[in-house]
Amino acid sequence: MIIDKKERLRLLPAVHEVVEELLSTDNIHTNNEVTWAVRRVLQKARDIILQRENPEDIVLNRKDKQEVFWNYPEEEFIRFFREWLINEVKDMLKGTDLSLRRVINATGVVLHTNCGRALLAREVVDYVAQLAMSYNNLELDLEKGTRGSRYTHVEKMLQELSGAEAALVVNNNAAAVLLIMNTLANQREVIVSRGELVEVGGSFRIPDVIKAGGAKLVEVGTTNKTWSRDYSEALNENSALLLKVHTSNYRIEGFHHEVDLSNLVDLGEKNNIPVVNDLGSGSFIDGVDLGIPKEPTIQEAVKAGASLITFSGDKLLGGPQAGIIVGKKDLIDKLKKNQLTRALRIDKLSLAALIGTLRLYEKEDIEKIPIWRMLSLKGSDLLKEAQNLQKGISNLTTVEAEVQEHASCVGGGALPTANLPSFVCAIRPLQGSVVNLERFLLHGDIPILTRIVKERIILDPRTLLPEDYQIIIDRLSEW
Ligand SMILES: *Cc1c(COP(=O)(O)O)cnc(C)c1O
Repeated sequence: MIIDKKERLRLLPAVHEVVEELLSTDNIHTNNEVTWAVRRVLQKARDIILQRENPEDIVLNRKDKQEVFWNYPEEEFIRFFREWLINEVKDMLKGTDLSLRRVINATGVVLHTNCGRALLAREVVDYVAQLAMSYNNLELDLEKGTRGSRYTHVEKMLQELSGAEAALVVNNNAAAVLLIMNTLANQREVIVSRGELVEVGGSFRIPDVIKAGGAKLVEVGTTNKTWSRDYSEALNENSALLLKVHTSNYRIEGFHHEVDLSNLVDLGEKNNIPVVNDLGSGSFIDGVDLGIPKEPTIQEAVKAGASLITFSGDKLLGGPQAGIIVGKKDLIDKLKKNQLTRALRIDKLSLAALIGTLRLYEKEDIEKIPIWRMLSLKGSDLLKEAQNLQKGISNLTTVEAEVQEHASCVGGGALPTANLPSFVCAIRPLQGSVVNLERFLLHGDIPILTRIVKERIILDPRTLLPEDYQIIIDRLSEW
């Protein structure tokens, strides 16, 4: 039966009718909000009806089945459409139609770049919320009652934690490197080993940032081996910086040599050239106690004598997106005077989140930093969690689950060779394909991100939060 589209459009309810019905049982939302949502959903319905060949896209997703009501007789169509409309409006009012939203990360990748990298601790978020909802002294010197600097709030903390003379914070680590290039090497040369010309995800490439900062890249050595004499042979009167980049997202193994930071510092001092160390995933903790491979720490880079050290706020530091620079005071002062610093400046919410996170390091309350809690979970902890999840899933008739031994990784361009021993829940659908189940999990109200290994969906408890378990079980029950 061919249904006349115009005929069906005439059956759609008027906005005010639906708004009244919804408001009669809803005392949270205002008339304006509900009207906005009803208008949008009705417009969406009209668009589907008019533009699509097959308006059967308007379907009711019931727990047991999908109700395709496009072809139903008039009265039934009206009734089902009303139900569909009200569901959609309620979803919209909950914000589940927003593009940026919460997802469940069941991949076990702790610093998942596509999922926003580091999670913030509860008390850090409380501190940010408090500052966001009130006025604060961001650029007010309370002692003198005069204009102050946003950087003072964080500089002392960074000095004490890193051991450096001075510190500055900008928008992200890419901005930190750019600012250094532009301030200290504009129109001059920056010497970097060919083994360290890193590309980070999202098309950040060290050579491009050097160029964007107005500096000229001078590559030395080879991909696998660079020696001190390679750097010294490249030095000339136009050399501005020696740059050492921590290859935080890959490792060269085998026939390999790089110049230690301290040897590079010796060379820099002899020639009066500052040495900059881009640590990437800068960390105050080397991870060895937690059984993960050693990362060069920020404190070690300071001790080795680097003039400036840069790192991200949201990688192994476990804070907000930020670019942190610590090092020699005269150089930091020059950076602060560059006009570009204003363009690259950190905003107050990120600054607050960074301060809150640094406070946890000061108190040595590392367990409270979510990424370090996740990274330090032991096999026995994860086995228990995986078993809990498996037990919850075992009651379902839709999928089958078993506990398997696996490895999770750090992610976020950090510790590429680290495999953290994990126990996971491996799921097999009892009907339908694994690929479709993966997509089904990703397309729920709260998207669940998983990975497929050997025809199984892997749920890694390392990156799951306590409230995620029931949501996963509920979604799987709808399959
Ligand atoms: C991640 C990374 C960057 C970029 O840091 P963002 O904070 O993402 O801008 C720069 N250099 C290295 C070595 C990195 O690993």
